[in-house]
Amino acid sequence: MDHGKEKPRTTIRLHRGRARPFWHGNPIVFSGAVAYVQGEPPASGDLVEVHDHMDRVIGWGFFHPTSQYRVRLVAWASEPDLRPDLASILEARTARAAALRRGVGLPGPDTTAWRLLNSEGDGLSGLTVDVFGDVAVVMASAAWVARHRDLVDEAVRRVLAPEARLVHRTSPAVASEEGLAPAEAEGPGPMEVLERGLRFVVSPGGSQKTGFYLDQRDNRALVRALAGGRGAGGAMRVLDAFCFTGGFALNAAAGGAAEVLAVDSSGAAVEVGRENARRNGLSDRVRFQEADAVEVLEASPRAWDLVVCDPPRFARSARDLPPALARYQRVNRAALAALAPGGMLVTCSCSSAVRRDLFLEVLRDAAAEAGRRFAVTHVRGAAPDHPVHPAFPEGEYLKCVAGTVW
Ligand code: SAH
Repeated sequence: MDHGKEKPRTTIRLHRGRARPFWHGNPIVFSGAVAYVQGEPPASGDLVEVHDHMDRVIGWGFFHPTSQYRVRLVAWASEPDLRPDLASILEARTARAAALRRGVGLPGPDTTAWRLLNSEGDGLSGLTVDVFGDVAVVMASAAWVARHRDLVDEAVRRVLAPEARLVHRTSPAVASEEGLAPAEAEGPGPMEVLERGLRFVVSPGGSQKTGFYLDQRDNRALVRALAGGRGAGGAMRVLDAFCFTGGFALNAAAGGAAEVLAVDSSGAAVEVGRENARRNGLSDRVRFQEADAVEVLEASPRAWDLVVCDPPRFARSARDLPPALARYQRVNRAALAALAPGGMLVTCSCSSAVRRDLFLEVLRDAAAEAGRRFAVTHVRGAAPDHPVHPAFPEGEYLKCVAGTVW
């Protein structure tokens, strides 16, 4: 199988009544849905054929003998132009993904940081690829990616450039589940990328996530537009809470904000943020502070015209939903209270367990607690290089809600 050109020799038969999500395109077959394995016992990362209980072929996916994600489907029988061998699947999926990005202008002369593959959203569950200039960070959250690294690299290089530098990373959260080595490869060190003309220093494969939160690109552009909303002389004051390296803060300043305070608890992130401000000639209007964002919000009632609130993921799974919702409510109550009447809140949640409606309910309750009126103007998700398959709504993890506060 390693040469990737063979048809699968093993069949996974599902229990009666368990096949529906997979006909619709959901890729994750949990162990409990599998009735039995027929043929050669598959090894971790082998491509297998998945059948429903009447032996109809649903599609093909990567097998894992012990993970609860027993099969990750990557090709469907309803795709007649797709040959069910590994090399063909990888080639077709990466080509399609690259075409989707080209269609939305990625990469472009002003934007050199983008996501080439978004795991389930691009039909390759377990594989994420972020591109920073000529460096691609290949992130594995499934064992098959590590096992078939050469074919993955070949497919990625084919759509980028033969000389693209690849950095390999393993998602620590799933490393143990999938039996992957948690070791992280060294990245190529700090480099500069462009996002809509703004310069950012990133360390591909080095710091949090893959070094830059690409999913917020369009929401940062929204903040740039909102910051210019008052026109010249409006003197807008902006607080970027949970700023990381200042993505929202720099956009606010670039949009015309008079004064921006950017707060993060990570000293390293704040340091890079200051460097980013310098590189864009915005140091005079953007101040960085290493501090607890909730404390800063709670200490400045009715002080800001625009507050961006982009905390880390509070809910890891549905199990810790109640405490996570309480945290979101507290943070957003503080953010609402920190706004001057008529100000704008841009608030995000990247917990996939907190669905869009639930997040809006949290904001409703936070506004009631803060004694403020909140009128929602924008409900958005991640940028289009983070596509979501409708049969896999868990992929829609990022919510970004904007509105006016009185
Ligand atoms: N808005 C950023 C991404 C934010 S990610 C961007 O566009 O790039 C969430 C950030 O919250 C991380 O940088 C993390 O260091 C920071 N963080 C976590 N807990 C915090 C706290 N209590 N106070 C301030 N920052 C915190």
